[in-house]
Amino acid sequence: MRTYTCGACGHRVYFENISCVRCGHMLGFDAERLEVVTLTASGQNDEYIQIARHEPAQSYRFCLNAGHGVCNWLAPKTGGAELCVACSLNRTIPNLQEPGNLAAWGEFELAKKRLIYQLLRFGLPVDATHIGRHKLTFDFARDTTTGHLDGVISVDMLEADSVWREQQKQLFQEPYRSLLGHLRHESGHFYWMLLVEGTGHLDRFRSLFGDDTLDYSNALASYHDTGPVANWQELHVSAYACAHPWEDWAETWAHYLHMVDALDTSEEWGLEPRARGLVFGSFWPFKISDIYREETFEALMERWIPLTLSLNSLSRSMGHADYYPFVISDPVRKKLGFVHEVIRNGGAQLGQRTTATPRRPRRSKAR
Ligand SMILES: [Zn+2]
Ligand SMILES: [Zn+2]
Ligand SMILES: [Zn+2]
Repeated sequence: MRTYTCGACGHRVYFENISCVRCGHMLGFDAERLEVVTLTASGQNDEYIQIARHEPAQSYRFCLNAGHGVCNWLAPKTGGAELCVACSLNRTIPNLQEPGNLAAWGEFELAKKRLIYQLLRFGLPVDATHIGRHKLTFDFARDTTTGHLDGVISVDMLEADSVWREQQKQLFQEPYRSLLGHLRHESGHFYWMLLVEGTGHLDRFRSLFGDDTLDYSNALASYHDTGPVANWQELHVSAYACAHPWEDWAETWAHYLHMVDALDTSEEWGLEPRARGLVFGSFWPFKISDIYREETFEALMERWIPLTLSLNSLSRSMGHADYYPFVISDPVRKKLGFVHEVIRNGGAQLGQRTTATPRRPRRSKAR
Protein backbone atom coordinates (compact mmCIF):
# COMPACT_ATOMS: atom_id res chain seq x y z
CA MET A 1 0.00 0.00 0.00
CA ARG A 2 1.21 3.45 -0.91
CA THR A 3 1.31 6.34 1.52
CA TYR A 4 0.19 9.86 0.62
CA THR A 5 0.94 13.47 1.49
CA CYS A 6 -1.40 15.95 3.13
CA GLY A 7 -2.16 18.66 0.54
CA ALA A 8 -2.31 21.31 3.26
CA CYS A 9 0.77 20.67 5.43
CA GLY A 10 2.84 18.04 3.59
CA HIS A 11 2.64 15.45 6.42
CA ARG A 12 2.60 11.75 5.50
CA VAL A 13 -0.97 10.39 5.56
CA TYR A 14 -2.35 6.88 5.18
CA PHE A 15 -4.97 4.99 3.20
CA GLU A 16 -7.24 4.56 6.24
CA ASN A 17 -6.96 8.15 7.58
CA ILE A 18 -10.00 10.40 7.86
CA SER A 19 -8.02 13.48 8.87
CA CYS A 20 -4.43 14.69 8.98
CA VAL A 21 -2.94 14.20 12.46
CA ARG A 22 -0.77 17.30 12.05
CA CYS A 23 -3.08 19.97 10.60
CA GLY A 24 -6.51 18.37 11.13
CA HIS A 25 -7.73 18.73 7.55
CA MET A 26 -10.20 16.11 6.37
CA LEU A 27 -8.97 13.35 4.08
CA GLY A 28 -10.84 11.13 1.65
CA PHE A 29 -9.85 8.43 -0.82
CA ASP A 30 -10.49 9.13 -4.51
CA ALA A 31 -10.93 5.69 -6.11
CA GLU A 32 -10.62 7.11 -9.64
CA ARG A 33 -7.13 8.51 -8.99
CA LEU A 34 -6.34 5.89 -6.33
CA GLU A 35 -5.13 8.65 -4.01
CA VAL A 36 -5.91 10.15 -0.63
CA VAL A 37 -6.94 13.78 -1.14
CA THR A 38 -7.05 16.63 1.40
CA LEU A 39 -10.34 18.47 1.72
CA THR A 40 -11.99 21.51 3.21
CA ALA A 41 -15.73 22.16 3.58
CA SER A 42 -17.09 24.34 0.76
CA GLY A 43 -19.91 25.70 2.91
CA GLN A 44 -22.42 24.35 0.40
CA ASN A 45 -24.45 21.27 1.33
CA ASP A 46 -22.20 18.24 1.59
CA GLU A 47 -19.57 19.47 -0.86
CA TYR A 48 -15.85 19.53 -0.08
CA ILE A 49 -13.04 21.20 -2.00
CA GLN A 50 -9.68 19.57 -2.50
CA ILE A 51 -6.63 21.38 -1.17
CA ALA A 52 -3.78 20.64 -3.55
CA ARG A 53 -0.52 22.50 -4.03
CA HIS A 54 0.05 21.81 -7.68
CA GLU A 55 -3.38 20.97 -9.09
CA PRO A 56 -6.62 22.82 -9.75
CA ALA A 57 -9.10 22.33 -6.88
CA GLN A 58 -11.78 19.73 -7.43
CA SER A 59 -15.01 19.29 -5.51
CA TYR A 60 -16.05 16.06 -3.82
CA ARG A 61 -18.74 14.46 -1.68
CA PHE A 62 -18.04 11.78 0.89
CA CYS A 63 -19.55 8.33 0.53
CA LEU A 64 -22.85 8.06 2.42
CA ASN A 65 -21.30 5.41 4.71
CA ALA A 66 -18.88 8.05 6.04
CA GLY A 67 -21.92 9.05 8.15
CA HIS A 68 -21.63 5.67 9.94
CA GLY A 69 -17.88 6.16 10.40
CA VAL A 70 -17.08 3.06 8.32
CA CYS A 71 -15.84 4.63 5.07
CA ASN A 72 -13.30 7.31 4.10
CA TRP A 73 -13.82 6.94 0.34
CA LEU A 74 -15.35 9.66 -1.82
CA ALA A 75 -18.47 9.32 -3.94
CA PRO A 76 -17.89 9.19 -7.72
CA LYS A 77 -17.58 12.70 -9.21
CA THR A 78 -20.12 11.97 -11.93
CA GLY A 79 -23.40 10.07 -12.01
CA GLY A 80 -24.71 11.30 -8.64
CA ALA A 81 -24.15 8.01 -6.76
CA GLU A 82 -24.26 8.45 -2.98
CA LEU A 83 -21.99 5.51 -2.20
CA CYS A 84 -18.35 5.07 -3.15
CA VAL A 85 -17.39 2.33 -5.61
CA ALA A 86 -16.51 -0.07 -2.75
CA CYS A 87 -19.66 0.51 -0.66
CA SER A 88 -21.87 0.30 -3.76
CA LEU A 89 -20.97 -3.43 -3.83
CA ASN A 90 -22.75 -4.06 -0.50
CA ARG A 91 -26.14 -5.75 -0.88
CA THR A 92 -26.68 -6.40 2.82
CA ILE A 93 -25.27 -4.62 5.84
CA PRO A 94 -25.85 -5.83 9.42
CA ASN A 95 -28.57 -4.42 11.64
CA LEU A 96 -26.83 -1.38 13.14
CA GLN A 97 -29.23 -1.29 16.10
CA GLU A 98 -27.70 -4.54 17.41
CA PRO A 99 -24.73 -4.00 19.73
CA GLY A 100 -21.35 -4.75 18.19
CA ASN A 101 -22.50 -4.78 14.57
CA LEU A 102 -21.27 -1.32 13.64
CA ALA A 103 -17.75 -1.99 14.96
CA ALA A 104 -17.62 -5.41 13.27
CA TRP A 105 -18.85 -4.01 9.97
CA GLY A 106 -16.27 -1.21 10.22
CA GLU A 107 -13.48 -3.79 10.53
CA PHE A 108 -14.74 -5.66 7.51
CA GLU A 109 -15.04 -2.42 5.54
CA LEU A 110 -11.40 -1.63 6.23
CA ALA A 111 -10.38 -5.05 4.91
CA LYS A 112 -12.75 -4.79 1.96
CA LYS A 113 -11.35 -1.38 0.97
CA ARG A 114 -7.88 -2.90 0.78
CA LEU A 115 -9.19 -5.68 -1.45
CA ILE A 116 -11.09 -3.29 -3.76
CA TYR A 117 -8.06 -0.99 -3.96
CA GLN A 118 -5.97 -3.95 -5.15
CA LEU A 119 -8.54 -5.04 -7.73
CA LEU A 120 -8.58 -1.48 -9.10
CA ARG A 121 -4.78 -1.38 -9.20
CA PHE A 122 -4.79 -4.65 -11.18
CA GLY A 123 -7.36 -3.13 -13.56
CA LEU A 124 -9.83 -5.93 -12.84
CA PRO A 125 -13.55 -5.16 -13.16
CA VAL A 126 -15.57 -5.32 -9.92
CA ASP A 127 -18.75 -5.17 -11.95
CA ALA A 128 -18.95 -7.33 -15.08
CA THR A 129 -22.68 -6.90 -15.75
CA HIS A 130 -21.84 -5.00 -18.96
CA ILE A 131 -20.63 -8.31 -20.43
CA GLY A 132 -23.51 -10.33 -19.03
CA ARG A 133 -21.55 -11.54 -16.00
CA HIS A 134 -21.93 -10.89 -12.28
CA LYS A 135 -21.10 -7.93 -10.13
CA LEU A 136 -18.95 -8.54 -7.07
CA THR A 137 -21.48 -8.29 -4.23
CA PHE A 138 -21.18 -8.44 -0.45
CA ASP A 139 -23.68 -9.59 2.18
CA PHE A 140 -22.49 -8.73 5.70
CA ALA A 141 -24.76 -10.56 8.15
CA ARG A 142 -25.01 -12.50 11.39
CA ASP A 143 -25.70 -16.25 11.37
CA THR A 144 -24.60 -16.81 7.80
CA THR A 145 -21.87 -19.04 6.37
CA THR A 146 -18.90 -17.18 4.98
CA GLY A 147 -18.65 -18.18 1.35
CA HIS A 148 -19.26 -17.32 -2.28
CA LEU A 149 -22.15 -18.08 -4.61
CA ASP A 150 -22.42 -16.68 -8.14
CA GLY A 151 -20.67 -13.40 -7.44
CA VAL A 152 -22.11 -12.87 -3.96
CA ILE A 153 -19.70 -13.01 -1.02
CA SER A 154 -21.48 -13.76 2.25
CA VAL A 155 -19.61 -12.75 5.37
CA ASP A 156 -20.39 -13.94 8.89
CA MET A 157 -19.93 -10.92 11.17
CA LEU A 158 -18.78 -13.25 13.97
CA GLU A 159 -15.47 -13.48 12.13
CA ALA A 160 -14.66 -9.92 13.27
CA ASP A 161 -14.55 -11.19 16.88
CA SER A 162 -10.81 -11.69 17.44
CA VAL A 163 -11.27 -14.20 20.28
CA TRP A 164 -13.58 -16.37 18.19
CA ARG A 165 -11.22 -16.06 15.22
CA GLU A 166 -8.30 -17.27 17.34
CA GLN A 167 -10.37 -20.23 18.56
CA GLN A 168 -11.21 -21.19 14.97
CA LYS A 169 -7.54 -20.90 14.09
CA GLN A 170 -6.61 -23.35 16.84
CA LEU A 171 -9.53 -25.66 16.04
CA PHE A 172 -8.59 -25.97 12.36
CA GLN A 173 -4.83 -25.73 12.99
CA GLU A 174 -4.49 -22.75 10.69
CA PRO A 175 -1.26 -20.74 10.86
CA TYR A 176 -2.98 -17.70 9.34
CA ARG A 177 -6.54 -16.32 9.52
CA SER A 178 -7.65 -12.72 8.96
CA LEU A 179 -10.63 -10.73 7.68
CA LEU A 180 -8.61 -9.57 4.70
CA GLY A 181 -7.55 -13.16 4.01
CA HIS A 182 -11.21 -14.25 3.97
CA LEU A 183 -12.24 -11.50 1.58
CA ARG A 184 -9.30 -12.11 -0.73
CA HIS A 185 -10.08 -15.85 -0.76
CA GLU A 186 -13.77 -15.33 -1.56
CA SER A 187 -12.97 -12.81 -4.30
CA GLY A 188 -10.89 -15.58 -5.88
CA HIS A 189 -14.06 -17.60 -6.51
CA PHE A 190 -15.63 -14.58 -8.24
CA TYR A 191 -12.62 -14.02 -10.50
CA TRP A 192 -12.33 -17.74 -11.29
CA MET A 193 -15.75 -17.42 -12.92
CA LEU A 194 -14.66 -14.31 -14.83
CA LEU A 195 -11.08 -15.14 -15.79
CA VAL A 196 -10.80 -18.93 -15.94
CA GLU A 197 -14.17 -20.65 -16.38
CA GLY A 198 -15.00 -21.05 -20.07
CA THR A 199 -11.75 -19.39 -21.20
CA GLY A 200 -8.56 -20.54 -22.88
CA HIS A 201 -6.99 -20.74 -19.39
CA LEU A 202 -9.19 -23.65 -18.28
CA ASP A 203 -6.99 -26.51 -19.57
CA ARG A 204 -3.91 -25.10 -17.93
CA PHE A 205 -5.90 -24.51 -14.74
CA ARG A 206 -6.87 -28.21 -14.70
CA SER A 207 -3.31 -29.34 -15.30
CA LEU A 208 -2.12 -27.31 -12.31
CA PHE A 209 -5.02 -27.41 -9.84
CA GLY A 210 -6.90 -30.57 -10.84
CA ASP A 211 -10.37 -31.42 -12.12
CA ASP A 212 -12.82 -28.69 -11.14
CA THR A 213 -15.81 -30.83 -12.21
CA LEU A 214 -15.31 -33.02 -9.10
CA ASP A 215 -18.48 -32.89 -7.00
CA TYR A 216 -17.89 -29.89 -4.76
CA SER A 217 -20.14 -30.81 -1.81
CA ASN A 218 -18.75 -34.35 -1.60
CA ALA A 219 -15.19 -33.05 -1.83
CA LEU A 220 -15.75 -30.58 1.03
CA ALA A 221 -17.53 -33.18 3.19
CA SER A 222 -14.68 -35.59 2.62
CA TYR A 223 -12.10 -32.91 3.49
CA HIS A 224 -13.91 -32.10 6.73
CA ASP A 225 -14.08 -35.84 7.60
CA THR A 226 -10.53 -36.87 6.85
CA GLY A 227 -8.52 -33.61 6.81
CA PRO A 228 -5.78 -32.70 4.33
CA VAL A 229 -3.55 -35.24 2.61
CA ALA A 230 -0.33 -35.94 4.50
CA ASN A 231 1.96 -34.30 1.91
CA TRP A 232 -0.23 -31.22 1.32
CA GLN A 233 2.71 -28.83 1.83
CA GLU A 234 4.43 -30.24 -1.26
CA LEU A 235 1.43 -29.42 -3.46
CA HIS A 236 -0.67 -26.66 -1.90
CA VAL A 237 -0.21 -23.27 -0.28
CA SER A 238 -2.47 -24.25 2.64
CA ALA A 239 -4.10 -27.38 4.07
CA TYR A 240 -7.59 -26.15 3.11
CA ALA A 241 -6.48 -25.85 -0.52
CA CYS A 242 -6.63 -29.69 -0.66
CA ALA A 243 -10.42 -29.61 -0.35
CA HIS A 244 -11.23 -29.00 -4.05
CA PRO A 245 -9.48 -27.36 -7.06
CA TRP A 246 -11.72 -24.29 -6.60
CA GLU A 247 -10.48 -23.94 -3.01
CA ASP A 248 -6.90 -24.47 -4.13
CA TRP A 249 -7.36 -21.66 -6.66
CA ALA A 250 -9.01 -19.33 -4.08
CA GLU A 251 -6.23 -19.99 -1.55
CA THR A 252 -3.53 -19.39 -4.17
CA TRP A 253 -5.31 -16.27 -5.44
CA ALA A 254 -5.51 -14.85 -1.89
CA HIS A 255 -1.84 -15.65 -1.40
CA TYR A 256 -0.86 -13.83 -4.58
CA LEU A 257 -2.84 -10.78 -3.42
CA HIS A 258 -1.07 -10.91 -0.04
CA MET A 259 2.30 -11.01 -1.78
CA VAL A 260 1.61 -8.11 -4.12
CA ASP A 261 0.21 -5.87 -1.36
CA ALA A 262 3.09 -6.67 1.01
CA LEU A 263 5.69 -6.04 -1.69
CA ASP A 264 4.04 -2.78 -2.73
CA THR A 265 4.12 -1.69 0.92
CA SER A 266 7.74 -2.72 1.44
CA GLU A 267 8.73 -0.80 -1.69
CA GLU A 268 6.90 2.27 -0.43
CA TRP A 269 8.82 2.14 2.88
CA GLY A 270 12.18 1.19 1.39
CA LEU A 271 12.20 -2.07 3.33
CA GLU A 272 13.43 -4.52 0.75
CA PRO A 273 16.42 -6.65 1.71
CA ARG A 274 17.28 -7.02 -1.97
CA ALA A 275 18.71 -3.50 -1.67
CA ARG A 276 21.91 -5.33 -0.69
CA GLY A 277 22.50 -6.53 -4.22
CA LEU A 278 21.30 -6.62 -7.76
CA VAL A 279 18.38 -8.92 -8.44
CA PHE A 280 18.46 -10.92 -11.64
CA GLY A 281 15.31 -10.82 -13.75
CA SER A 282 14.33 -7.45 -12.40
CA PHE A 283 15.14 -4.04 -13.76
CA TRP A 284 15.85 -2.82 -10.27
CA PRO A 285 17.76 -0.75 -9.22
CA PHE A 286 17.66 1.05 -12.56
CA LYS A 287 13.90 1.15 -12.83
CA ILE A 288 11.09 0.58 -10.36
CA SER A 289 8.29 -1.41 -11.95
CA ASP A 290 4.64 -1.11 -10.94
CA ILE A 291 4.24 -4.35 -9.08
CA TYR A 292 0.54 -4.50 -10.04
CA ARG A 293 1.01 -4.10 -13.77
CA GLU A 294 4.63 -4.42 -14.88
CA GLU A 295 6.79 -6.59 -12.62
CA THR A 296 7.48 -10.09 -14.00
CA PHE A 297 6.49 -13.07 -11.86
CA GLU A 298 10.11 -14.18 -11.56
CA ALA A 299 11.19 -10.75 -10.32
CA LEU A 300 8.27 -10.67 -7.93
CA MET A 301 9.31 -14.01 -6.39
CA GLU A 302 12.93 -12.90 -6.19
CA ARG A 303 11.78 -9.96 -4.14
CA TRP A 304 9.27 -11.90 -2.06
CA ILE A 305 11.35 -14.70 -0.56
CA PRO A 306 14.14 -12.52 0.99
CA LEU A 307 11.48 -10.12 2.30
CA THR A 308 9.57 -12.90 4.08
CA LEU A 309 12.75 -14.36 5.57
CA SER A 310 13.75 -11.00 7.00
CA LEU A 311 10.24 -10.27 8.30
CA ASN A 312 10.09 -13.66 10.03
CA SER A 313 13.39 -12.85 11.72
CA LEU A 314 12.05 -9.44 12.79
CA SER A 315 8.93 -11.10 14.22
CA ARG A 316 11.06 -13.51 16.24
CA SER A 317 13.11 -10.57 17.55
CA MET A 318 9.90 -9.24 19.05
CA GLY A 319 8.86 -12.62 20.44
CA HIS A 320 6.02 -12.97 17.92
CA ALA A 321 5.08 -15.94 15.77
CA ASP A 322 6.36 -15.94 12.19
CA TYR A 323 5.03 -13.12 10.05
CA TYR A 324 4.88 -15.47 7.08
CA PRO A 325 4.06 -19.06 8.13
CA PHE A 326 4.10 -20.55 4.61
CA VAL A 327 6.37 -22.60 2.39
CA ILE A 328 6.36 -22.07 -1.36
CA SER A 329 7.02 -25.44 -3.02
CA ASP A 330 7.67 -25.72 -6.73
CA PRO A 331 4.05 -26.72 -7.62
CA VAL A 332 2.74 -23.79 -5.52
CA ARG A 333 5.13 -21.44 -7.29
CA LYS A 334 3.71 -22.60 -10.64
CA LYS A 335 0.16 -22.05 -9.41
CA LEU A 336 1.05 -18.54 -8.20
CA GLY A 337 2.62 -17.89 -11.60
CA PHE A 338 -0.64 -18.94 -13.23
CA VAL A 339 -2.64 -16.51 -11.05
CA HIS A 340 -0.18 -13.77 -12.03
CA GLU A 341 -0.60 -14.55 -15.72
CA VAL A 342 -4.40 -14.74 -15.53
CA ILE A 343 -4.61 -11.38 -13.73
CA ARG A 344 -2.25 -9.74 -16.24
CA ASN A 345 -4.30 -11.05 -19.16
CA GLY A 346 -7.53 -10.30 -17.30
CA GLY A 347 -8.76 -7.34 -19.30
CA ALA A 348 -8.01 -8.91 -22.67
CA GLN A 349 -9.29 -12.28 -21.50
CA LEU A 350 -12.71 -10.87 -20.72
CA GLY A 351 -13.07 -9.89 -24.34
CA GLN A 352 -11.79 -13.22 -25.66
CA ARG A 353 -13.93 -15.80 -23.94
CA THR A 354 -14.23 -19.08 -25.83
CA THR A 355 -17.20 -21.19 -24.75
CA ALA A 356 -19.59 -20.22 -22.00
CA THR A 357 -19.76 -23.26 -19.74
CA PRO A 358 -23.01 -23.96 -17.90
CA ARG A 359 -23.05 -22.41 -14.47
CA ARG A 360 -23.02 -24.89 -11.63
CA PRO A 361 -24.28 -24.00 -8.17
CA ARG A 362 -21.39 -23.53 -5.82
CA ARG A 363 -20.95 -22.63 -2.24
CA SER A 364 -17.53 -22.28 -0.81
CA LYS A 365 -17.11 -22.61 2.90
CA ALA A 366 -14.29 -20.36 3.91
CA ARG A 367 -11.59 -21.69 6.14
ZN1 LIG B 1 -1.97 18.10 7.14
ZN1 LIG C 1 -17.94 4.02 0.92
ZN1 LIG D 1 -13.54 -20.95 -0.84
